[in-house]
Amino acid sequence: MDITAIHQIFLTCTSVTTDSRNCPQGSLFIALKGESFNGNAFAARALESGSAYAIVDEEAYAPAGDTRYIVVENSLKTLQQLANYHRRQMRTPIIGITGTNGKTTTKELMSTVLSQTHNVLYTLGNLNNHIGVPLTLLRLRPEHDLAVVEMGASHPGDIKELVEIAEPDYGIITNVGKAHLEGFGSFEGIIKTKGEMYDYLRTRKEATIFIHNDNPYLKKIAYGLHQIAYGSEDGLYINGHVTGNSPYLTFEWKTDNESKYHEVQTRLIGEYNFPNALAAVTIGHFFGVEPEKIDKALAGYTPQNNRSQLKKTADNTLIIDAYNANPTSMMASISNFRNMQAENKMLILGDMRELGKDSADEHQKIADYLEECGFKDVVLVGELFAATRHSYQSYPDVTALIAELQREKPCGKTILIKGSNGIKLSSVVEYL
Ligand code: ATP
Ligand code: MG
Repeated sequence: MDITAIHQIFLTCTSVTTDSRNCPQGSLFIALKGESFNGNAFAARALESGSAYAIVDEEAYAPAGDTRYIVVENSLKTLQQLANYHRRQMRTPIIGITGTNGKTTTKELMSTVLSQTHNVLYTLGNLNNHIGVPLTLLRLRPEHDLAVVEMGASHPGDIKELVEIAEPDYGIITNVGKAHLEGFGSFEGIIKTKGEMYDYLRTRKEATIFIHNDNPYLKKIAYGLHQIAYGSEDGLYINGHVTGNSPYLTFEWKTDNESKYHEVQTRLIGEYNFPNALAAVTIGHFFGVEPEKIDKALAGYTPQNNRSQLKKTADNTLIIDAYNANPTSMMASISNFRNMQAENKMLILGDMRELGKDSADEHQKIADYLEECGFKDVVLVGELFAATRHSYQSYPDVTALIAELQREKPCGKTILIKGSNGIKLSSVVEYL
């Protein structure tokens, strides 16, 4: 069956799912394979529990004569081709967003702002890979007038693959920093991979990028593109600066031809969120959202999923940033915490994963930076931090730390909690 025919079937379905435990009535189930599972084996169950059709890529799982099965050569490829075909049919303007840090936050902020005056489709949660991007595109409906699609990368070529599926009309790279060094090999590898977004947009005559003017790496690779710039310099399309940071970020912004600034009081923790918020202002303004609505949307947004959240317990104030960690975001969090006005600061920091050969070095840099900042009350969690030179308390894992917290609970402190998701630092929250 060719992709046009599969698309016709898709149009009769209520939604698309790749999870046999979640097959809404009338949905299209696509059987994917992973390292430890074969989705084909679950196609029958998907059809039993509600799916109307199942795309499989092993004939053995499709009973002869049952027209609910669509047998293809490679289900993943079909998912991606179907998404691209659907995207072309819908013709919705798409804003692609990538970058090392701040993609999801910026995506949420942009979508909140744009939704003030547009019907926006945007990536749910963090579904930003070769499966999540197509699934997002397949949620496009005629009523959407804009889409914001998050694209993540852990290897060279990942962004190229995603932009070829999504064919964005607009692009934004939030920043380039150190993460997934294991997969990219080097910092240059990271820049090149994020740059695949720009490389694609250069092939599109009408394309526009939104660019953080304060980032020299981005400016270097943005040649030949129509650019809408934001940053600290006066005269940019949007310029702005941070006005407060204790604990919530407040900032000011104005357009090129305004003389007075708009003040925004956010519910975001961390100065590193300033460029994310300014990007949302820029894109909102570009797509015609009135300034008052932009400010209102940003002021009303509260982050989810352990992304820079403030939590007051009976005994302590916690800044929970335990969703992910890499050298760039770790440095940003620590430096933000250093500048924050607060009593009795304490830091609980977990290992940064997936850094490959630079891992030991990058952990040492963080340990050195902590000493340089003069922090005394620091707890390090994980084998990688344990192997660095430092004068702090260190625990091999979160269980050991929890045992200690049960013996002696900190009190009256402002505590930054940050580490890779795999270290599970979010589980210490209930002991603080
Ligand atoms: P992922 O790769 O997991 O999808 P992401 O790029 O979507 O991550 P977010 O989830 O928005 O990023 O933010 C994750 C963390 O990155 C934040 O909690 C914060 O510590 C850090 N961060 C966010 N924005 C920036 C920024 N502009 N510069 C540096 N660090 C940032
Ligand atoms: Mg994300």
